[in-house]
Amino acid sequence: MTSFFDTRIEFLQGVGPNKAELLNKELKIFTFGDLIQHYPFRYEDRTKFHQIREVNQSMTYIQLKGKILRIEMIGQERKKRLVAQFSDGTGVIELVWFKGAQWMMNKLKVGIDYVIFGKPSVFNSKFNIAHPEIEALSEIAESPVSFQPIYPSTEKLRPRYLDSKGISKLQKTLLTASGQHIRESLSSNIQNHYKLINKKDAQINIHFPENQEMLRKAQYRLKFEEFFYLQLRLIKLKLTRVEKFKGQVFSSTNILKEFYNNHLPFELTNAQKKVIREIYHDLKSGKQMNRLIQGDVGSGKTIVSFICMLVVIGNGAQTALMAPTEILADQHLKGLKPFADELGIDIAILKGATKKSERKIISEKLENGTLKILIGTHALIEDAVQFQNLGLAIVDEQHRFGVAQRSKLWQKNKSYLPHILVMTATPIPRTLAMTLYGDLDISVIDELPAGRKEIKTMHKYDANRLEVFGFIRKQIAQGRQVYIVYPLIEESEKLDLKHLTDGYEAINRAFPEYHVGILHGKMKSKAKDFEMQRFVKNETQIMVATTVIEVGVNVPNSTIMVIENAERFGLAQLHQLRGRVGRGADQSYCILLTNYKLTKESRQRISIMVSTNNGFDIAEEDLKLRGPGDIMGTQQSGILDLLIADLGKDSKILEIARQAAQEVLQDDPNLEKEHNFLIKQQVKSQRRSSLNWSRIS
Ligand code: ADP
Ligand code: MG
Repeated sequence: MTSFFDTRIEFLQGVGPNKAELLNKELKIFTFGDLIQHYPFRYEDRTKFHQIREVNQSMTYIQLKGKILRIEMIGQERKKRLVAQFSDGTGVIELVWFKGAQWMMNKLKVGIDYVIFGKPSVFNSKFNIAHPEIEALSEIAESPVSFQPIYPSTEKLRPRYLDSKGISKLQKTLLTASGQHIRESLSSNIQNHYKLINKKDAQINIHFPENQEMLRKAQYRLKFEEFFYLQLRLIKLKLTRVEKFKGQVFSSTNILKEFYNNHLPFELTNAQKKVIREIYHDLKSGKQMNRLIQGDVGSGKTIVSFICMLVVIGNGAQTALMAPTEILADQHLKGLKPFADELGIDIAILKGATKKSERKIISEKLENGTLKILIGTHALIEDAVQFQNLGLAIVDEQHRFGVAQRSKLWQKNKSYLPHILVMTATPIPRTLAMTLYGDLDISVIDELPAGRKEIKTMHKYDANRLEVFGFIRKQIAQGRQVYIVYPLIEESEKLDLKHLTDGYEAINRAFPEYHVGILHGKMKSKAKDFEMQRFVKNETQIMVATTVIEVGVNVPNSTIMVIENAERFGLAQLHQLRGRVGRGADQSYCILLTNYKLTKESRQRISIMVSTNNGFDIAEEDLKLRGPGDIMGTQQSGILDLLIADLGKDSKILEIARQAAQEVLQDDPNLEKEHNFLIKQQVKSQRRSSLNWSRIS
């Protein structure tokens, strides 16, 4: 069945084959459905006129009514341009044309009333507008509209009458022809309950809003719908997965009680307890667990994962913990081995560097089931690594692993899939997480262990370097240690390394009385280990490093994190780096060094860092600043291919739409009930064409 909206765009009145080809290429508009969903990105109020005397640099677009006083051609040859002095009685502004100057020169008349529209900019301390839209007042037939849609267009489309105005004309033609073809795509239940306007009104008003109120309602309705179908799909996928995959049943054991009662070195936070309960519930449910733990740096994810391992081990099965770097894997071993030893649990580590002879022993113990905890890097997922019965696989710092690697873990067991626990310290807003990791359940550790002192974050300019060094010196004198991190700046690794080693030498010169270590990704793992160990033992007081120390490294005595060229880092990374300090009882500091010249965005990032320590708040701000496109793993997921909704800005609507989708599927998992007929229709008709179920077709 094809519908009106599947009609090829060339058949729309006013398009034809040539323009159709351009629309295909430039805007990926192939059908009527594609065009009607080519939404305006903003609207202009053309009933209002600005006055020239109030024009300022912050204005993006202005509309003026007035007369041309004088026109002249200036400059020679390629620098030739047409300049018109335009006045509305309150001031004079220059209109400038570089292209088609001669043609404009013949067209424009001095002394008649014009309406102009454009973006003001400053040149030679005077305001001007380059290539404004200009129309004689007498020629503006219709009464101006207060919401003129502005459509995305391209350089290639504009000269072919497919600028915003041209597209707007096509939309008008299409909407007029669409009439009875716009089908409702949400049930009346949902429309009523969430107070949504119908689809047809929404489509009309998104392009040509009657008024502000209708525009808002149209946007809300279309965003809601887009999120609703996205969530419906994700929730459905998860329900299917949960139904399909059985998991081994693990329940409480003596070894867990033993650990709780006699070995746990501190009281768990309430958040840790809550998350452990959630995981425990999964482990005994008989379904395969796929859970993500989100927890800010230092929130204590490791001990949570260890406690979960104990449940599994107590029931006779094995566990694996995979970390993204050797440093981290080592650190996990170091942290967990003492506990494992006390409890008589066999634990081992597997890395790229592990010797053959050792691998052999590990393999044997894995296959006969005596080795209960295997920690490692991605060496863990190599095919040669076989378990007797892997009950739980834990992946630390998820964003360093691809989905494909995660799914390799699934295949490590023959009879049952292992339970999967993924841990990430990159907190993202919950709804976004639910969307990005639609296939995972989510637990959040939203509390830090008691007694942690807030890290004090300061912004200093390079010029204050001596003052910063003085501060560092004082801290070291009190026994503390320091990280100094350099970004990857240059395109070439060699230059980066030079940057880092220059920094290293400078620090050595500035602190002759202390020992300085160095750590970067190009070092052999033996050398890295060596440097790390020296720092852990406080044989070096300052560690100069690249972002290799970003993830997970834990040296509680280190209390200062200096970040060089902090403006070069994203918020998430800055927060990760800062999380390397503040791990002990002493007051910690993060010093962001930048030069004086900062873009507005980097200034914002720095000020967010200075103002909060809360990873979730930072993630939320990050999302607003950058949009979700840059958050890990989103590029490939396809779900960001949204038509109108914005995962960053519309998170409230996302939340509501998700709730709605959840209720629908809870009540009617297969959409068989009559009142869900329209929803079922929509899902069906969209499934064949595209991922985005809210799309018109
Ligand atoms: P992350 O969540 O960043 O991986 P870790 O698991 O490395 O954090 O924990 C950071 C530090 O906090 C470790 O030294 C750990 O032993 C300690 N820790 C974890 N939970 C608690 C707690 N409930 N009370 C006190 N310290 C804790
Ligand atoms: Mg960790």
